[in-house]
Amino acid sequence: MSTEELQAWLRRFAELVHEHKDELTALDSAIGDADHGANLDRGMTAVLAALEEAPPADAAALLKKTGATLVSKVGGASGPLYGTLFLRMAGADTFPAALRAGYEGVLARGKAEPGDKTMVDALGPACDALDAGRSVAEAAQAAAEGRDATVPLVARKGRASYLGERSAGHADPGATSTALLLQAAAETLS
Ligand code: ADP
Ligand code: MG
Ligand code: MG
Repeated sequence: MSTEELQAWLRRFAELVHEHKDELTALDSAIGDADHGANLDRGMTAVLAALEEAPPADAAALLKKTGATLVSKVGGASGPLYGTLFLRMAGADTFPAALRAGYEGVLARGKAEPGDKTMVDALGPACDALDAGRSVAEAAQAAAEGRDATVPLVARKGRASYLGERSAGHADPGATSTALLLQAAAETLS
């Protein structure tokens, strides 16, 4: 993972979040409080500004700055969870190992399990694909399939869980943004 590649990944993720902001908000208005698009867009705008202001020396510093910025700038569940993902990625040498470490951080922090209708349902399949030696493009495909698989699920974590059975029938906003994170990775990481 070069610093340049990771920077390109984050830039592309910020762009995709911005493009899909209304879609993420619409999903969160169906089963949450209609702020996921705005939350992530604000967070990633702050990340790009922070990286611009003080260019990080290496990949680990870049990932740490990204995670810390998301934790501090994004309220709600997704800030600490995405923040933890990037902070934990900082200790690893390869993208598959980094994403796995980030995923484990998200599991530890949020206490969600696969099938709870959260970002975990997109992130887990992507990690599994990479650990099986598949490409980043294939991992992105696995994340998108994980996102789609959240539609019929009843939420057991986060705000959507307050809706009970009524949370079924909509894709999870966090799983949808995580699929964008992997799409950005497929477009920018080798
Ligand atoms: P909030 O729900 O606080 O308004 P966001 O709308 O930004 O925060 O993010 C909601 C997303 O966060 C959900 O769609 C879900 O994917 C994710 N999420 C919520 N709680 C958890 C959790 N405990 N573990 C993993 N992901 C979670
Ligand atoms: Mg919300
Ligand atoms: Mg909120």
